[in-house]
Amino acid sequence: ILQVESLTKTFQSGHRQIKVLDNINFTIAEGQSMSIVGPSGSGKTTLLGLCAGLDRATEGRILINQVLLNQLSEDELAQLRNQQVGFIFQNFQLIPTLTALENVMVPLELRGEKNIISASKELLNRVGLSDRLDHYPSQLSGGEQQRVAIARAFSNRPKILFADEPTGNLDEETSHSIESLLFELNREQGTTLVIVTHDPDLAQKTDSIIKLKGGKLI
Ligand code: ATP
Repeated sequence: ILQVESLTKTFQSGHRQIKVLDNINFTIAEGQSMSIVGPSGSGKTTLLGLCAGLDRATEGRILINQVLLNQLSEDELAQLRNQQVGFIFQNFQLIPTLTALENVMVPLELRGEKNIISASKELLNRVGLSDRLDHYPSQLSGGEQQRVAIARAFSNRPKILFADEPTGNLDEETSHSIESLLFELNREQGTTLVIVTHDPDLAQKTDSIIKLKGGKLI
């Protein structure tokens, strides 16, 4: 479902070019789970963002379901993200002025779906938040916000879900319940999971692990 070929990413910093990713190659099959590990600053978040079509490669190719991301226009990329890709950010990135229910409704509205309210309630029920529908993000705990983010990511029924340290800021018990939820959705809906994590226990639970160091895959 995801092919990454000779991927390089450089950022311009003043007069200097910084190579953050250097000739990365890997593939992941549909329905599988993979973790990306490596020290801070090794390029994990950058790699995830490129694969999810949030940013563009400097060199190399990224394909999702045989579609070459490099060649897509901004609109086409946005459409692909909306139709096939889910993303869970490290800091949740919920919309602060919308309730939990409204946050989950956003992607469904963008897709022009029907029965948005009941579908969103069902998703929040699925993540154990049926009694928090009308809470704003500031009124939710970190774990609850992460659950809303997961419900929102899954509202698109993505073929592939990218999660950037989904359990990073959570206590052990909450992390475990978030992990279980991700793997349940992986099993039940066949959603491919790509997870950036510093947690070796979580990494061990995925089908494969890739390790970055200094922008290289080792
Ligand atoms: P962490 O585990 O700390 O989140 P990471 O492995 O996810 O780290 P990245 O966030 O991908 O690392 O960053 C890799 C390198 O790229 C860092 O040195 C960072 O400073 C640099 N970098 C990331 N984004 C930019 C940008 N937009 N402009 C310039 N440099 C950037």
